[in-house]
Amino acid sequence: MNVYDSARMADVLAPLGYSVTGTVEDADLVILNTCHIREKAGEKVYSELGRLRPLKAERQAGGGDLLLAVAGCVAQAEGAEVVRRAPHVDIVVGPQSYHQLPELIARATRAASAPGPGRGIVATDFPVEPKFDALPQQTEAQDVSVFLAVQEGCDKFCTFCVVPYTRGAEYSRPAADIVAEARRLVALGAREITLLGQNVNAWHGEGAGGGGEWGLGRLVRALADGVPGLARIRYTTSHPRDMDDDLVAAHGDVPQLMPFLHLPVQSGSDRVLARMNRRHTAEQYDRIVERLRRARPDIALSSDFIVGYPGETDADFAQTLALIARTGFAQAFSFKYSPRPGTPAAAEERQVDEAVKSDRLAAVQDLLRRQQDDFNRATIGRCVPVLFEKPGRHADQLIGRTPWLQSVHATGHPRLIGAEVEVEIVGAGPNSLAGRIVTRDAAPLPGIGAAA
Ligand code: SAH
Ligand code: SF4
Repeated sequence: MNVYDSARMADVLAPLGYSVTGTVEDADLVILNTCHIREKAGEKVYSELGRLRPLKAERQAGGGDLLLAVAGCVAQAEGAEVVRRAPHVDIVVGPQSYHQLPELIARATRAASAPGPGRGIVATDFPVEPKFDALPQQTEAQDVSVFLAVQEGCDKFCTFCVVPYTRGAEYSRPAADIVAEARRLVALGAREITLLGQNVNAWHGEGAGGGGEWGLGRLVRALADGVPGLARIRYTTSHPRDMDDDLVAAHGDVPQLMPFLHLPVQSGSDRVLARMNRRHTAEQYDRIVERLRRARPDIALSSDFIVGYPGETDADFAQTLALIARTGFAQAFSFKYSPRPGTPAAAEERQVDEAVKSDRLAAVQDLLRRQQDDFNRATIGRCVPVLFEKPGRHADQLIGRTPWLQSVHATGHPRLIGAEVEVEIVGAGPNSLAGRIVTRDAAPLPGIGAAA
């Protein structure tokens, strides 16, 4: 979501003459787009701000300036505290307010040239009018694989999570807007779209052409049928409670919907799940996985795990390992529980010891890594469609992805970027596959010769 938001900030600022630069030294404005989900992210922001301070002072000494903005969920959660801890910050802007950046920059520039205090503008309201209506059309879409935010915020209030507080209440964009944006992205060269939301499968937007609200399955079908040239559709991040029948069925009958799903479960212990307010059991998760595999037998799964949630016992943790062992994940993320200020779990007395958390994390990651290795190795010798996205580091090397989100590198002509090509997998590492292109005409794009 932050990658998407950063691209949209660039869109908002383009009419003012701003463009993205690769180095801080070239910048007139630095925006730190932040995440507040775990502790380290917040601390990183302050250390980064500390590093930028001398650069700003140097510019000011030379009669110039360097505007500093903190955006994203740390900005939302900390608000004026950011300016108190780092008074050289000009703008603090929350994730629902960044469409106001042009106005905030104008105010910050005026404040900077006026004598006296007044720096450090904080914009962290949740505006009544949805940000999406105010944003310009997405232009940063020369990429083959792009994000499209369809939903934002969350009403679920898992006890460990800050998202409902920093991103606000659940909001679904109307289907017609999403389909129109998808068409524009494809016209700009996108071939794969990942629908984004903190709780993307809770999407329940206004349907296109009347007829009330749709669910995500219906939206996926509308995109598959209504956006010619869109080869691949993905969506992330989903909640187990919102995996409804229509969405599961879409995995079986929409060829463009890729056979990969990130479905966080957090824990394999019902006791922990209940205390986390996840509102599903481990068995219900198993049933969802079964339904998905019935609809799409080759679906690959990914998940998120939290170890060391307050009160988690060895027996609870063993159930998490058991869930991982019986499910089989193609990849997954795992984290030590980190108390987030203001969330119910942070106030729990039975916090788990850091050393115990570290041991559990190592055990979970060891098992997940073995599953990922096995999954990747199982593709060796197979021919799979790869959508090439960009050139690799070496001459004539291309980087793409399999339908199961594995990264593949192969030797091929750069004209194949944007094409879906049959590739034989000849090697597998933990994080990527080596491939050999076997046909070059699998799905040529207009303008890309079949005999490239
Ligand atoms: N909406 C998604 C997850 C969004 S947050 C869901 O419901 O599953 C992304 C991931 O960060 C979570 O799945 C969780 O594993 C992790 N996370 C969130 N808060 C955390 C915390 N306080 N400590 C450790 N990990 C956390
Ligand atoms: Fe956070 Fe996801 Fe739970 Fe919402 S559903 S509170 S985003 S973990």
